[in-house]
Amino acid sequence: MQCKRCGQCCLNTEMLLSEDDIKRLESLGYSRKEFTVEKQGFIFLKNINGHCFFLNPETMKCKIYDHRPTGCKFYPIIYSIREKTCLVDEDCPMSHTVTGNEIKKHCKEIEIFIKKLIEEAKSRRKLLRS
Ligand code: SF4
Repeated sequence: MQCKRCGQCCLNTEMLLSEDDIKRLESLGYSRKEFTVEKQGFIFLKNINGHCFFLNPETMKCKIYDHRPTGCKFYPIIYSIREKTCLVDEDCPMSHTVTGNEIKKHCKEIEIFIKKLIEEAKSRRKLLRS
């Protein structure tokens, strides 16, 4: 795809994070509390003033781009739980540049990643109940 680095995908983000993503970002000196929000066991990137915690709103650039979360690397290819398949998010202005081969190439990895997120959320909920 041809990402134009507009930062649109960093506004009102609903990006899920894995434990590996969180540890990688913590290793940069950020604390989990400042950049995450938990809902029903799932961990999401936190928004500040309508944009991702890690977006610099003046430059519209990601402050941790080289270490960005796994889901941000796959974007604009996303997984639709309702349709049980990978889709291209049409909110991305460059979604039309994503090729069928790119979707095919990443979809398996995305499905594995989603399963991991679900397992991690189940463990957190279990911990809360114990
Ligand atoms: S919205 Fe699309 S084009 Fe803009 S930064 Fe995100 S992935 Fe790139």
